[in-house]
Amino acid sequence: MSAAQQSLLEFKAILDIYSNEEQEEIMAAARWAEGLHHNQKRASGKPYIIHPIEVARILVSLRLDSKAIIAALLHDIIEDTSISRKDLRQEFGKEVETLVAGVTKISSFRAQSKSVQAAETIRKMLFAMVKDIRVILIKLADKLHNMRTLGYLREDKQKRIATECLDIYAPLAGRLGISWVKDELEDLSLKYLRPEIYKQIKETIAEKKGERKEFLIKVELAIKKLAEEAGIVVEIKTRAKHFYSIFQKLKKQGKSISEIYDLLGIRILCNTPAQCYTLLGLVHQLWMPIAGRFKDYIAMPKSNRYQSLHTTVMCYGGTPLEIQIRTHGMDQTAENGVAAHWLYKTGKGFSKERATLQDLPIINKLKRWDGGKGASENFLQEIKDELLKDTIYVFTPGGDVVEMPKGASAVDFAYHIHTEVGNHTMAAKADGTIIPLQKALKNGQIVEIVTAQNARPHLNWLKYAQTARARSKIRHWLNQNEPSLIIDQNIIAVKKTNINEQENRKKKRDVIDRIYFDKSKVGVVVEDEKNMLIRFAGCCSPKPGDAIVGYISRGRGIIIHRASCRNLSLIREIDVRKIHVQWETFSTKFTSRFKILARHTSDIYYEIEGAIKKFNGHVIEMNFDENQAGNLVGFCTVELNNQNDLQKVLKSLRILPTILNIQQIGSILTGDR
Ligand code: MN
Repeated sequence: MSAAQQSLLEFKAILDIYSNEEQEEIMAAARWAEGLHHNQKRASGKPYIIHPIEVARILVSLRLDSKAIIAALLHDIIEDTSISRKDLRQEFGKEVETLVAGVTKISSFRAQSKSVQAAETIRKMLFAMVKDIRVILIKLADKLHNMRTLGYLREDKQKRIATECLDIYAPLAGRLGISWVKDELEDLSLKYLRPEIYKQIKETIAEKKGERKEFLIKVELAIKKLAEEAGIVVEIKTRAKHFYSIFQKLKKQGKSISEIYDLLGIRILCNTPAQCYTLLGLVHQLWMPIAGRFKDYIAMPKSNRYQSLHTTVMCYGGTPLEIQIRTHGMDQTAENGVAAHWLYKTGKGFSKERATLQDLPIINKLKRWDGGKGASENFLQEIKDELLKDTIYVFTPGGDVVEMPKGASAVDFAYHIHTEVGNHTMAAKADGTIIPLQKALKNGQIVEIVTAQNARPHLNWLKYAQTARARSKIRHWLNQNEPSLIIDQNIIAVKKTNINEQENRKKKRDVIDRIYFDKSKVGVVVEDEKNMLIRFAGCCSPKPGDAIVGYISRGRGIIIHRASCRNLSLIREIDVRKIHVQWETFSTKFTSRFKILARHTSDIYYEIEGAIKKFNGHVIEMNFDENQAGNLVGFCTVELNNQNDLQKVLKSLRILPTILNIQQIGSILTGDR
């Protein structure tokens, strides 16, 4: 029999937790994969099929469902064989196809940056990217088997892969609470990254094995006796700490291996949380606890749902010993983490664990998950939400990952990239499609900011922005560049007077209009002098064309009011301080504003800008929102060299198929200053 046949047979033998039907489907996938990888070999020289089978075997030990096992068997076929996603779907259905495609997608993702922070971001982003946690579990099993067989690769490759494993995948397993996978990945990484230390730790532990055994037997007996007297049935697991945690301890404490005593740990398993606390008290009576080493993860579980009591005591001969106390259910969760929730429904030997797992809130979710397909998706989403907390991850077009708070908009993203990008944002695209600037970004989107020289922050961006950084940058810009606006006062005034929504909106619109037609485009001449410091009064908001008067303020320049403003007569010394002002004499430049209704398209900004550029005009400002019908409604302000160009521009805009309606809503001649 060939090696491939042999491994198929051995694999079949471990599938008895699955139904007959499922076993058949799993084996069909295994044979199909074997045929497809037939001529391929691993670096070890062994038939390739051994790899996917070993990956599947790891997931069987985590008791994942049959679809995940099938996907594990097929996880490399899209990348390494001529099979397409469509072929795969035809053979094994949509669920398996989606899982395999997910694994392929994250495989193609390479860590670019080496900083710890980037690694953390990448881990979270992996969570964000995949729709199904099983994809990550398959990937972890894939990594684990590759790490187990890393010895066959070249040394530089070993180091690179081991580093990536330590930075990304071991912590990922930790976040998912699968501690045995995390421990093994860390130990294997250490083996290739620091071979001399790995060897030293291994030898030291082997040396003291006999000594240790004796010691642990003594400890075990003492605990069992006490528990029995208290009427508690316990199971005791003794263990050597995994190598990587010893290595970290060496590094942290700056000691040599011979000085480290607590290489050992002991775990007491019982049936209820109450028993855990009772046992803790008993242990502390027996041996003196070391101050500062007690942790209650039962009352305060870790974010990956890990629960346990930890204490370190001065044991026989003054040897420090770490003791963990937890229920069987908690132990199951600690070892298998998220995967513990896939405990195979008709599986054997899990009834005890399931009974004690009832205490955990996650189990209520599991029950719902058992209920049906829809519930399953919610369950996954809940785990993901919890892991990601209030964060989303999006990409720049260059592939950099950007961490943003949930609800962040393209405006936040733009200011995150750079203040200048933010200040010149004209439009935003997500995955190639234009999105309204205020729309909340979603996990995994590729976000692109379209900038324009003349684009500028808008007052309503303050509403779109969720991050403090963006808001302060916008406010800063408005304060610097819009002295004519008394922004805060206006907003407060609107809030105070509690007028209805429509008036509210109109007021804001007015404020915004004033930004567009502000002093950068509209001038006021003060007694023949152009460059005086002027401000527009907030009370009457004069607009070009209004009859205006100036008031010489103390230290704040000349304030421009409408001639009809009621406040004028109330101002002190108005007769003395009044000054003649007029709107600046215009040159031929012409600014026009349009209201546009357009079909939802990603290229609306380019199309409009293109039509306007044909006539040497330029866009000052353009902003679209989606209306309820799914069309884009917005305003566009353009500057043209000549009033005569207006009709031509309008005509060329009207013939654009995406534009449903365009109205000119105002024009002024603007000074060429
Ligand atoms: Mn693989």
